[in-house]
Amino acid sequence: MGKLLSGRNILIMGVRNKWSIAWGIAQAAHREGANLIFTYLGEREKEELKKLTADMGTLHAYPCDVSSDEDIERLFGRIKTEFGVLHGLVHAIAFAKSEDLKDSFLNTSREGFRVAMDISAYSMVAVCRHAAQLMTEGGSIITLTYRGSIKVMPGYNVMGVAKAALEASVRYAAYELGSSNIRVNSLSAGPIKTLSAKGVKNFSDILGIVEERSPLKRNVTLEDLGKTAVYLLSDLSSGVTGEVIFVDSGYNNMGL
Ligand code: NAD
Repeated sequence: MGKLLSGRNILIMGVRNKWSIAWGIAQAAHREGANLIFTYLGEREKEELKKLTADMGTLHAYPCDVSSDEDIERLFGRIKTEFGVLHGLVHAIAFAKSEDLKDSFLNTSREGFRVAMDISAYSMVAVCRHAAQLMTEGGSIITLTYRGSIKVMPGYNVMGVAKAALEASVRYAAYELGSSNIRVNSLSAGPIKTLSAKGVKNFSDILGIVEERSPLKRNVTLEDLGKTAVYLLSDLSSGVTGEVIFVDSGYNNMGL
């Protein structure tokens, strides 16, 4: 085990199963000595967490549906009581209605647009606000984004719009929290086969294109993402805030 995150209380939001990006980050943070606190959406995710963390010592896990202000308030109230201070937060949560990731973008319903923005972008703002109150010793917040925010990825549709809002929210949050020595960054991941990704039309084609055309000629792994997350959560990135950090085998640099 390393020492980069030793003694740091880090909240991980978004573990669904062993393929989840949040789980890759949790494992990397655990290796660096972090005290992990988890949230879960429902009972199924809670059971998964229990299995995944079986050899990690006591599980600290709390329910939180980020579409509910009450859930978010209750979560941070419990963390305050039980841990006092928070040093890191990983927001790895997104959701859009499945029909909005298959059909034409212009057919996105008002409700589908609202839901995608609420769960995938606004939730980061809400949890940032609460987490910052507990980051009395400074802190680092990261969220997960995708290049569909700046370029058209057919099928990614309303999620691309939500990711654009998320990245802009990161910049505004970084500005407001900087004077409290709290850094906020987004990690832009290359495609990874997770349950959420399966909802995106032509996802396996995207994996193939990245493998063929990216500078590294491969897709990224949960380990790649975990290592960059440790960098962002630790003092190694002490001068970095408001950024979008790509972990995508360099694919974002390619024109063709
Ligand atoms: P995942 O399905 O494993 O994780 C998504 C998580 O969001 C799940 O744990 C789910 O329970 C949670 N969630 C959804 N609605 C919620 C709600 N209302 N309240 C609380 N939690 C809720 O998939 P993933 O790919 O690991 O996704 C994690 C993040 O990474 C997302 O923001 C996603 O957009 C982003 N991302 C994924 C990829 C990829 O290719 N997989 C690429 C770039 C960015």
